Amino acid sequence: MSAERVDITIIGGGPTGLYALFYAGMRGVSARIIDVLPELGGQLTALYPEKDVYDVAGFPCVLAKDLARDLVTQAMQFDADVCLEERVSELNPVDGGFDLRTDEGLRPTGTVVIAGGKGAFKSRTLDVPGWDTFWKNGISTHVKDPEALRDRRVLIVGGGDSAFDWSWALRDIAGELTHIHRSDRFRAHERTVEQVVGANESGHLDLLTFQTVQEIHGDDRIRSVTLVHTKTKETRELAVDDLLALIGFVPNIGPIAEWGLELEGNTIQVDSRMRTNIPGVYAAGDIAAYEGKLELISTGFGEAAIAVNNAVHHLDPSAKVDPGHSTSSKAFK
Ligand SMILES: Cc1cc2nc3c(=O)[nH]c(=O)nc-3n(C[C@H](O)[C@H](O)[C@H](O)COP(=O)(O)OP(=O)(O)OC[C@H]3O[C@@H](n4cnc5c(N)ncnc54)[C@H](O)[C@@H]3O)c2cc1C
Repeated sequence: MSAERVDITIIGGGPTGLYALFYAGMRGVSARIIDVLPELGGQLTALYPEKDVYDVAGFPCVLAKDLARDLVTQAMQFDADVCLEERVSELNPVDGGFDLRTDEGLRPTGTVVIAGGKGAFKSRTLDVPGWDTFWKNGISTHVKDPEALRDRRVLIVGGGDSAFDWSWALRDIAGELTHIHRSDRFRAHERTVEQVVGANESGHLDLLTFQTVQEIHGDDRIRSVTLVHTKTKETRELAVDDLLALIGFVPNIGPIAEWGLELEGNTIQVDSRMRTNIPGVYAAGDIAAYEGKLELISTGFGEAAIAVNNAVHHLDPSAKVDPGHSTSSKAFK
């Protein structure tokens, strides 16, 4: 499958990529954003949705997931193609641009802004018998549609924000909800932990500590799991229709390292215009490296603006790099 060619493709839907998408829209060029995750927001939503962030200009304090939500709203004022659950694996130069290859096919583009953070996030999986057999047949690492879990026997595995958020959200949707964690120390936000512990006490769900999955059983799909107590090694069988392993993500720069870019460890060397060594390819945010670099949300925003405005000028040398002031931009009239 080959999608329509756009002017700027942004690889990575974290805060930097989302702000780059906004800037592309404000500059009136066509844009596409691609992320391997099922949700936009990058580290904000994948790693610390419930943490308060205090150093984003204009926000004395903002919840990470709320910042991500507002960045999406700001970016989506303009038409944009959003491609989720697609990993960009190849960057192939073609006449006047690039063909990006993703899991879904070719994504042609005039220029590229790489805002890939620490690399493509991959969900952690459980290394237990039955995982590969029943993967996507009752096993998932994210929730796409909570309603698909209505009245079902759901097992949530995990001690972080994602596991606890979904435990709380699914308590009255699932038919039977069991939530297990390998210890009694949770990484999730205190308030959500309190809510889930309360729901456990009032019988809305079963929260079990010191438990892990030992084996997954089923026929054409998952039917049950064997749980094991991490201290006593005692096992028990639990009938389940769906297993949600919400145990975090591992980033991997992966294919980006093979695109012929000048690298410094797991980062891409850029100049003061966020240009990489490949003309037409820019980098911004955590993945961009230069002397004095700070890996912060606020620096990513500035770098995104510089990258996109230079990409616009690269596409059309008669277009100014300087975007002018948004207060007098035609984009908002
Ligand atoms: C616990 C924690 C707390 C933090 N607190 C703060 C704070 O208080 N203030 C602050 O300024 N910063 C904070 N940070 C750092 C901040 O989150 C990062 O600087 C910021 O997220 C970088 O944004 P980014 O858009 O460059 O990258 P990311 O947020 O990492 O987003 C990159 C995205 O690119 C995607 N991607 C990468 N490669 C590919 C590919 N090949 N194909 C498809 N998709 C791809 C990834 O899946 C990811 O979604 C914190 C970080 C952590 C972990």
